Amino acid sequence: MKLDVLVFGAHPDDAELGAGGTIAKCISEGKKVGIIDLTRGELGTRGTAEIRDTEAVNAAKILGVSIRENLEFADGFFINDKAHQIAIIQIIRKYQPDIVLCNAIDDRHIDHGKGSNLVSDSCFLSGLVKVDTKLIGDETWQNAWRPKQVYHYIQWKNINPDFVVDVSDYIDKKMEAIVAYKSQFYDPNSAEPETPISSQNFTESIRYRAKDLGRLVGVEYAEGFTVERHIAVKSLWDIC
Ligand SMILES: [Zn+2]
Repeated sequence: MKLDVLVFGAHPDDAELGAGGTIAKCISEGKKVGIIDLTRGELGTRGTAEIRDTEAVNAAKILGVSIRENLEFADGFFINDKAHQIAIIQIIRKYQPDIVLCNAIDDRHIDHGKGSNLVSDSCFLSGLVKVDTKLIGDETWQNAWRPKQVYHYIQWKNINPDFVVDVSDYIDKKMEAIVAYKSQFYDPNSAEPETPISSQNFTESIRYRAKDLGRLVGVEYAEGFTVERHIAVKSLWDIC
């Protein structure tokens, strides 16, 4: 199946937190969107890998994505090497996305910057015809495929975006997908240890950051992204 957009996240919930509104908006526009989680988040302080698997399925249903897969890399310890790149190239060639969204270029959690570089490097390598890959259980060689664009969403740190997407009509869906990760975020009845992302402050920050980015461009809510090359427009009127 060819997808229009493939969203990578180091942990289940990264895609929702960073780009949930944009994902929901793309789907409402008739685009096919998939999510690939690099790890199961098994080192997370709260919950378990199994609980997070279920939460990720629920969040994917809320957003309406076409596929969600987990590459089961080692949470905290995966590295940007050939074996990990090949696993991602196989996925990129399988789904042939025009646009890839991936982790923030730099962040508090070390997996975010690592995941960002790993996915970005893999997008480049996936376009080289001499990098041979097959899917497991399939004897056919895959065709090279390089996404047209790689954009990085913004996570814990306040990185200045290069562009923002108006997600005013999709902020509630984004928040609904985020709170599907009940084990991870603010829950006054939880007996689990507190973490930086389990505070009420963090959950509220997702909405007010979107509101603040929206304020700066004259809409209600927006999500920000950084780019890897200059943004080109066909006409001055393409920018709203
Ligand atoms: Zn994460």
